[in-house]
Parts: sequence; structure tokens; C-alpha cells
Amino acid sequence: MFRAGGNLYKSMMKTQRRFLNLQEFQSKEILEKHGCSVQKFVVASNRKEAEEKWMSFGDHEYVVKAQILAGGRGKGKFINGTKGIGGVYITKEKTAALEAIDEMIGKRLVTKQTTEEGVRVDKVMIAEGVDIKRETYLAVLMDRESNGPVVVASPDGGMDIEAVAEKTPDRIFKTPIDIQMGMTDGQALKIAKDLQFEGNLLGAAATEIKRLYDLFIAVDATQVEINPLVETADGRVFCVDAKMNFDDSASYRQKEIFAYETFEEHDPREVDAHQFNLNYIGMDGNIACLVNGAGLAMATMDLIKLHGGEPANFLDVGGAVTEDAVFNAVRIITSDPRVKCVLINIFGGIVNCATIANGVVNAVNKIGLKVPMVVRLEGTNVDAAKLIMKKSGLTILTANNLDEAAAKAVSSLPK
Ligand code: GDP
Ligand code: MG
Repeated sequence: MFRAGGNLYKSMMKTQRRFLNLQEFQSKEILEKHGCSVQKFVVASNRKEAEEKWMSFGDHEYVVKAQILAGGRGKGKFINGTKGIGGVYITKEKTAALEAIDEMIGKRLVTKQTTEEGVRVDKVMIAEGVDIKRETYLAVLMDRESNGPVVVASPDGGMDIEAVAEKTPDRIFKTPIDIQMGMTDGQALKIAKDLQFEGNLLGAAATEIKRLYDLFIAVDATQVEINPLVETADGRVFCVDAKMNFDDSASYRQKEIFAYETFEEHDPREVDAHQFNLNYIGMDGNIACLVNGAGLAMATMDLIKLHGGEPANFLDVGGAVTEDAVFNAVRIITSDPRVKCVLINIFGGIVNCATIANGVVNAVNKIGLKVPMVVRLEGTNVDAAKLIMKKSGLTILTANNLDEAAAKAVSSLPK
């Protein structure tokens, strides 16, 4: 019973948590299918596979790119890297390209968008390099403000768009598109001009922009970001990097897209929790939650939100829980620096509340909790549990019911 509940809760949490995220090579496969211009490429998990799949890229350069879900790979660094290369390596030499593959696979890449732990690279893309003359930025996204799609364009691509927005906001152009009408030729041309394409290239760029918009609609994307969209020395337009997100609620009609294997990058805390038979689900807020059971997790999430807070994570300790597991549960949920409050919500039917209390007190004593903790316990051995917490001398806020616990947790957050 519990297992089924655990899995259901996990999948419910996951759908609440994030949109489908694809690797660059998967996004490029989709771009290619929709007639957009991408470089020739192959994908490999090791050097041998790369050599087998190797295609003749002619006299061009080779670009080896680490496939991870985070951006900023070009300026990234490998932990224990020996060659000082980043996540995007450009070379004319085939041997150097193959060595770069060896260097990237299995190592963790740290970029501006990852944690310090980085993300392990399991796959690389080897693409035919293009001779880049100019890098621009183009994104199509669903915009709340205009209640529909908007194209965001800047002639300053290849870099952090947030930095451009901050330093030179006048170099970012937004064009809302009427979802019923679609993108007009006039709009496509205007955006191409915003990107500073000129002469013969203006038409080619407008066509590419229109294709990208049509693709955005056709696949129910919430975002298609091309950074950089480049102009080559020989006068062509290419989508050199691509990031796409999709609307989960459209999965029923986007079977092909949602069938993509996502190579989900596991949160190290998820893996850590797994060793102790605990279910860890990372979320985006700042209240860490320790609960038992799927239903209670969902209810806790709802109440936190109702009181204006956001959960940072959920750790489900399940039914057959030991003091040691509770200790590790508290350790794991508090290891996230974003956590500003811990909420423990246990309804002890199967679980012995005294076990939870002992584990919690132990963990707080050992780890030294720096944020407020709110505890709501109910059920088997609850009086003994309350005594254990009281005797510990720790400042633990208690609550008599779930609503009160959620309210106390939210109000204990720094303002
Ligand atoms: P990101 O760092 O994760 O955003 O990866 P990108 O795919 O955007 O690559 C980073 C940078 O590497 C780009 O902005 C380009 O300057 C450069 N780059 C990527 N592919 C090529 C290529 O085929 N040729 C050349 N000359 N530069 C490239
Ligand atoms: Mg990029």
C-alpha cells in the first residue's frame, strides 16, 4: 500500500514541479524536423561510439559539447579536469576532438547555472563547426503580461541575456504575436532587422525566425531559446544552441515530444535519501518538509501555499522508519542553503512519534540547526514524543494541527 502511495506522490510532485526539459541534441533534432537550420551533429556516450558515428565534416572545425541541462557550458569548468577545457570545445584536429570527449565524459561540469557540485556529463555532441561572424539572441516564449507568445530578440547574443537586459535594455526587442493570426511576414522581417541582419541575409533570417515561431506553436512549447542564433562568414543563419521547454498539460497531444528520454539529472540529495529508503523531492521554495505518506505531503504542500509559502523539498520517511533514518532525513532536508525553515509533519499511525522525536532531537543536536523548526506530531506515542522534545531544551516550535503548523512555518520565515 505504502509503496504505491509513495510512487503516486512522487509522480504527482514531479508533475507539479517542472516542465519537460530536453538536452541540446534533443532540441536540435526537433528543430531539424521543423526545417530550422542546425549544424550536422552526432551524439555519443564515449570516444569509441563517437568514432563509429563520425561523419565526414569536411574541412570544418569540430565542436565538442557536453550535454547537460544547464547553460553556460562554454565558460564552464570540469571538476578534476586535466586539460583546462570547458563544456564547449572547438578544434580543427580530429584527435584533439576525441581527446576532449574522453576529458568530458564521466566528469562533472560546473557552470554559472549549476551548483558547485556540477553535473556529470554522460553524453557529448560532436557538431560540424561553423565560422561565426555574429551572434544574436532569439527566444519565443509564453508571456503572462501580454497573455500570449512574445518574441524576445537582441543583436547581442552568445552571452548572458540577463546581463544584456540589465546593462543595455534598449538592445532587447520584444514583439508580441497574435496567437490566432500567427507571425506575419512583416513581423518576421522587423525582428530580423532588430537582430541587425542586413542585405541578402534579411530574408533568410526572417524565414528562420518564422520557422522557429511555427515550431514553438506546433510543439506546445513554453519556451524556445536560441542563444546564439548566428550569422556565418559565408552568409548563412544557424541555430547554434537551443533550449526548449514544453507545456506539461499538452503532453496528451505531444506524445512524440514527451516520449523523449529526459536523462534527468538527479539531485544529489535524492540519491543520498535513497540510501536510507527515504523519498526526497526537491522543489523551488524555502520551507523544508519532513512528512510520512503521500496524502500528508500533498496536504502539507497545499496548506503551505495557502499561507503564502513555498516548499523547498519534501522528504517522506514512510512507515517503517528508524531513528537513524530520521536523523539522515533532517540532515538531508537542511543541507540545502535555500532552506529557511523546517516543518515536520507526522501523523503517526504506523510511525511511532517517539522514534521521530528522538531522531529529530539527535539530528538538531549534531548538525546544529540554524533555521526555525516547526513540529506537528499526532498519533502513536505522541505524549512521549512531546516530552522528548521538551526535555531536549531545543527551541522547537510545536503546533497542534497541520494548519497551525503551516501558518507558523510561513510566519517564521525571514521577512
Ligand atoms: P552554452 O555556453 O552552454 O550556452 O553553449 P553554446 O552552444 O551557446 O556555446 C557557447 C559559445 O561557443 C557560443 O556562444 C559560441 O561563441 C561558441 N560556439 C559554439 N558552437 C560554435 C561553432 O560551431 N563555431 C564557433 N566558431 N563557435 C561556436
Ligand atoms: Mg548558449
